[in-house]
Amino acid sequence: MSDKVHMGHTARKRFGQNFLHDPMVIDQIVAAIHPQRHQQLVEIGPGLGALTEPVSASVDKLHVVELDRDLAARLEEHPVLSPRLEIHQIDAMKFDFGSLQHGDEKLRVFGNLPYNISTPLIFHLFEFADKISDMHFMLQKEVVQRLAAGPGSKTYGRLSVMAQYYCRVIPVLEVGPGAFKPAPKVTSAVVRLEPYDVPPYPAKDVRLLERICREAFNQRRKTLRNCFKHLMSESELEALGINPVQRPEQLSLEQFVTIANYLADKAAG
Ligand code: SAM
Repeated sequence: MSDKVHMGHTARKRFGQNFLHDPMVIDQIVAAIHPQRHQQLVEIGPGLGALTEPVSASVDKLHVVELDRDLAARLEEHPVLSPRLEIHQIDAMKFDFGSLQHGDEKLRVFGNLPYNISTPLIFHLFEFADKISDMHFMLQKEVVQRLAAGPGSKTYGRLSVMAQYYCRVIPVLEVGPGAFKPAPKVTSAVVRLEPYDVPPYPAKDVRLLERICREAFNQRRKTLRNCFKHLMSESELEALGINPVQRPEQLSLEQFVTIANYLADKAAG
């Protein structure tokens, strides 16, 4: 049978469908999530239920966000899963995750994410960081490396700075292509992201911090002096203790925040 057909469903490439089927890997992910009955869990892209089944067995209710209408309908008709699930058949990129959080308990989000949208989806989730206690995601290994990278590394970029602004980033395990059907071309990895109650380096204006990072890493070969010349002078950078001939990939999160906060103050006059 074609590798694309799994449990009677033909995988749709446009939805990034690579279904987990290795029981050991599934057990390891569920053990890392460690769901508890009272917690508010949300799965992105439940698909055919590889993670949904074991996680829902530990909780009273599980929210799932699935874009594929056929897969959402299958879950709806599932005799065991259906009563425990709250199914949201919608694009996770447009979903208001904050609407699921009630009371004091924050959300726990997890999923084997569609790789084609994983980075913008993670940025979308950062908007709800204050309502989330943790996130466990299966991603391309390279994306996990970028999330966890520090200054000076080739993989350090906008995703690293913004992820580490909001969250503690903890790589959990690597997963080979054989754990999925169909098998992806790349190695995967699971990461845990734990949003901080208070970011270690608070930005006065997060949008400005994001903008600074985008502008810097869009021209990562340039010196900081050149990257930011329309925003600030070389001597302003020096006054902040930042060497203007360094490149963006050498700046720490703290230094990006220092620049963003200086520019926020400057804009406020
Ligand atoms: N959780 C299942 C597993 O591990 O076998 C499926 C994982 S598969 C990599 C990604 C899942 O995300 C698919 O079920 C796909 O239909 C769903 N999906 C793709 N794009 C989505 C989106 N924008 N919003 C919500 N779900 C999406």
